[in-house]
Amino acid sequence: MDEKKSSAEKGAHNCKWAEPTLFEAAPGWLDAEATPWTCHRDAVPKRLETTEICEDCPRWEQRDGAGQVKPKV
Ligand code: SF4
Repeated sequence: MDEKKSSAEKGAHNCKWAEPTLFEAAPGWLDAEATPWTCHRDAVPKRLETTEICEDCPRWEQRDGAGQVKPKV
């Protein structure tokens, strides 16, 4: 498998910890224009200004077939 292609396939769009910021509860969704994705891997959600960090993130996990897996609180 092409290693570069494999790396490019990891991203916020297919990481189970990422959620579009637009889907966040108010007032969080207001940050969506500047930070389109939010990482929920840690206890405190982290807004992502860019998803480049996701391409090499050691904590990336494949989103399951059901789609979004946001931690339940
Ligand atoms: S920073 Fe890592 S854990 Fe968070 S959404 Fe990106 S790939 Fe997933």
